[in-house]
This record gives sequence, structure tokens and C-alpha cells, in this order.
Amino acid sequence: MDRFVRDDIRNIAIIAHVDHGKTTLVDGMLKQSGIFRSNEKVDERVMDSNDLERERGITILSKNTAVMYEGKKINIVDTPGHADFGGEVERVLKMVDGVLLLIDAFEGPMPQTRFVLKKALELKLKPVVVINKIDRPDQRVNEVLDEVLELFIELGADDEQLEFPTVYCSAKEGIAKLDMEEESEDLKPLFETIINHVPAPSGYMDEPLQMLVTTIDSNEYVGRIAIGKIARGRIKKNQQVAICGREGDVRTAKVVTLYTFNGLKREEVLEASLGDIVAVSGIPDINIGETIADPQNPEAIPFVSIDEPTISMT
Ligand code: GDP
Repeated sequence: MDRFVRDDIRNIAIIAHVDHGKTTLVDGMLKQSGIFRSNEKVDERVMDSNDLERERGITILSKNTAVMYEGKKINIVDTPGHADFGGEVERVLKMVDGVLLLIDAFEGPMPQTRFVLKKALELKLKPVVVINKIDRPDQRVNEVLDEVLELFIELGADDEQLEFPTVYCSAKEGIAKLDMEEESEDLKPLFETIINHVPAPSGYMDEPLQMLVTTIDSNEYVGRIAIGKIARGRIKKNQQVAICGREGDVRTAKVVTLYTFNGLKREEVLEASLGDIVAVSGIPDINIGETIADPQNPEAIPFVSIDEPTISMT
């Protein structure tokens, strides 16, 4: 059976140390993707809506955003920047085919993002390096790039990963360029680099459905909402599905509502397939790490534990 390539989708995660500009960059991408009508106000801290998160200054929960660029959908999943969330990092990275490593042009790579980068390299993802805040008067872009290369070598990057593309960017000004001498008015070079360097999701469209639940959200109207990527096959609204539990148990359920992401919102759809990141409501007892599968072929995707203890780096 042939592998099917979803060239209309790119799934990426952003790895960034706190304050290096992840929120500002995603805001900028959302604005420029044309999703926002002029009368719609973009919350300044769209990615950081959780209070607890704000208090601790680290991103704990994974959020999904989707931006459109020239007919292709770029799903952006947030990664916890911190090593304390080892299991979550791994689950999130398994949903994506590429990562943006976002680094402040003055501060350079920080030790707290090493863990996540290491995981991404181990999973054979090819990073795009984004040097942000190039407008800073104290930027030291060239040294920072050397530091990034050293870090890649130290973390065991392979030859392909070492040939990472670099995008220079000012998220604040909403501009990106492929070399520092270039003039730029927008983030187009960043969008282009994502489309050209991150592989499109691919897999088996005509095989039985499999979707690993990566995140759980909830809402007072529809209850628990399971979020994850469709690894195989298709899913439809109102479909009967099997839920493969973590202990090898299998139960049945029904997909009541199916959503994909559009900007910061969820959008109801009737069907989604391989490569799509979706949200599913109607399964009251659904949990992280369970697989939503075809009832005739209930096969689980191996689970990465939630609380997998990892040693904090200091
Ligand atoms: P996050 O913690 O990675 O989400 O970082 P934020 O997006 O909240 O940005 C942290 C700080 O850096 C804020 O004060 C931003 O205004 C600032 N910032 C973000 N991008 C840029 C940039 O391109 N240039 C400059 N000079 N500051 C930026």
C-alpha cells in the first residue's frame, strides 16, 4: 500500500526559552496569515492564556494554533520548554514533523531548552533555527549561530540536522529574512522556510484509524476534548470508535463533534484524515495516552508516560 503525503499540511512545534519571543512570533504569524479580520483583536499573549503558566513563567500546557500560508495549513503546537515535563515533550514532538528552535539574538541558546532540543534530535526531527530579536542593538547574531552549532554537535545531531536552515527574525517588527543584509517587510521568508524544509505528514490513508490522544482540554458544553494527530486513516463525525486504553483494554465510544484548528479557534468539520491535528468531543472518560482507533481493528499506539520523571537541569 502506498504512503499518502498530505502536502497541504505542515505540523511543527516551537522550542524556545522563556522570553525569547515565542508568543510574539506566533502572534505575528497569525496576523500575517490573514486569519484575523481587521476588527478582531489579537490577545497580546495568545499562547499564554493559563494563569498558572503566567505565574510560573513557563509554558506548561500545550496549545494548538493553525496558520494558513498559500493554501497550506501550518499547525503549531506549543511545547513545554522545561525538562520537568519529559513525557509531555515527547508526546508533543511525536505529533510534528519539524521544529522551530527560536533563539534570542543576544542571549543565545539557554540550558533549559537543551532537553527539548535533544529529544527533537533523537526523534530525527530536522530543526529550523530562528534567530529572533535581530533588531536588538546588542544582538550578536554570528556568535549565537556558532553557539547553536556547537550545541547541535554536543547533543549528537546527525549530518542532515547540522545543515539546519537559519531564519533571522524580529518577531516584534513582524519581519524575517534569510540573510542579515537582506531587506524584509514581512514574515514570508519564515513561512517559506517552514513549507520547504519541514516534511509534510505522510502515512497510510486507507488503513484503519489511529489517533494518539496527546492533550485533553475541556469545555462546560461538550465536556472532555481529546486532541491529537491522526496517524493513520480517517475519522468522521458521529463515527463509532474504539478507545484503546493504556493497559491493553478496549472500549467503544462515539465521535460527537470533530474539530480542526483555524487560527486560535476550533472549527467543526465532518471528516479529517491522516496528518490532521484534530479535537474530538463526546468521549467522556478519554485520557492522555489512549488511542482512538477503528472499532474493527483496535490497535493502540505505544504510550509515552505523563509523569516520567526527568532530572531538572540547573
Ligand atoms: P515568550 O516567553 O517566548 O513567549 O516571549 P514573548 O513573546 O512574551 O516575548 C518576551 C519579550 O521579548 C517581550 O517583552 C517581547 O516584546 C520581546 N520581544 C519579542 N520579540 C522581540 C523582537 O523581535 N525584538 C525585540 N527587541 N523584542 C522582542
